[in-house]
Amino acid sequence: MTTTTVSIPRGGPGLEQRRRLVTEIPGPRSRELMDRKRIAVAAGVGVSLPVFTEAAGGGVLTDVDGNSLIDLGSGIAVTGVGNSAPGVVDAVVEQVQRFTHSCFMITAYDGYVAVCEALNRLTPGDHEKRSALFNTGAEAVENAVKIARSYTGRSAVVAFDHAYHGRTNLTMALTAKAMPYKSGFGPFAPEIYRAPLSYPYRDGGVTGREAAARAIQQIEKQVGAANLAAVVIEPIQGEGGFIVPAPGFLAALVEWCRLHDVVFIADEVQTGFARTGRMFASEHEGIVPDLVVTAKGIAGGLPLSAVTGRADIMDAPHVGGLGGTYGGNPVACAAALAAIEAYEHDGLVERAAQIGDLLLERLRGLQADDPRIGDVRGRGAMIAVELVDPSTGEPDAQLTGRVAAACHAQGVIVLTCGTFGNVIRFLPPLAIGDDLLHDGLDVVAAALASS
Ligand code: PMP
Repeated sequence: MTTTTVSIPRGGPGLEQRRRLVTEIPGPRSRELMDRKRIAVAAGVGVSLPVFTEAAGGGVLTDVDGNSLIDLGSGIAVTGVGNSAPGVVDAVVEQVQRFTHSCFMITAYDGYVAVCEALNRLTPGDHEKRSALFNTGAEAVENAVKIARSYTGRSAVVAFDHAYHGRTNLTMALTAKAMPYKSGFGPFAPEIYRAPLSYPYRDGGVTGREAAARAIQQIEKQVGAANLAAVVIEPIQGEGGFIVPAPGFLAALVEWCRLHDVVFIADEVQTGFARTGRMFASEHEGIVPDLVVTAKGIAGGLPLSAVTGRADIMDAPHVGGLGGTYGGNPVACAAALAAIEAYEHDGLVERAAQIGDLLLERLRGLQADDPRIGDVRGRGAMIAVELVDPSTGEPDAQLTGRVAAACHAQGVIVLTCGTFGNVIRFLPPLAIGDDLLHDGLDVVAAALASS
């Protein structure tokens, strides 16, 4: 009798932490799989790098051709604790063996409650809070709007220029950019209004307070505070280009919301959980949002999202008004508890700040010699460069695409973003080492030089 042993590739921090290319990128096996993808998967589901993943951990991702790539994207800011982080793996295995699902709306389980307790404790402000759990960032944003409408009895919602809040109907309406997120997918949800952001690099010296006054005037004139349920904003715009509003902008908006009983919702889906060098990005500006939306980094790669906030607002919807079959799935909750433990006790907040210092220093060094780098900005492990035509200051999306492609070809995963498509963003896992960051940035420097 013959026995076949199947070797399961192991991810996690044990994976050799270095960049190593053994084929061109993509290699032959990835290309074969991309051919299958083209036939099996809807064309609308795009892939940034035509590379198929085999394993991932620490700061690297290995592909099916045996290449080891440096991960400066964390699956869009999800694997903050690292891929297959040991604590997360153990917690998931243990939970999977006990039960995989009961539906919290049918019979409850303690993991859900424990995640809510942790969120209530960790989010800004020491007031009484409640949380509710969902699956995706978009679903949580939608629920935050439902809760704000239920609490205020009003319907209008304000979102900002360059905002990204998701791909469902309501969150598409909240999102600013037409291509690729909205084009052809309307009509969109009604009663959504857009206000101008504070965008220091392109604002010509407008201060945070002035930018807030500009936004507030537009809201008062075009919507009217009495009709407004909520203001939704990312404390640092993510997909919109890692735009950090000028100091005082967010605080002035929060003040105005308080004065008019408008619910202030911070979408911390991308910025939350240590990413920016604080547990939540709102803390940098000293603001206490009424509701905080979280997802992505919360559960080490498992799908989970949440709305957390003031108990009086969160308790406004009637019993049965909030929920969903999978929201707060027990396996995702077990992963979240392990991930939160790591964020709190493994120094990951401090590590994100260190990563930010390293990235900023290296990228500002490149900027000093390259006028095409118009701006270097961000906080913690959420840093970006905005690439422009130095003679006009106009966004240069083509250069951005060439630089990203050159990085990918050398085995460095970088992501682009921005309303004008001219921003390269760095979102490494917080489990990455300095050597990999330096190697990755050397590749970025060479890509810029040759593009
Ligand atoms: N809000 C923000 C700020 C995001 O960055 C994202 C995802 N990029 C979302 C909402 C939507 O999250 P999801 O893709 O999980 O629906």
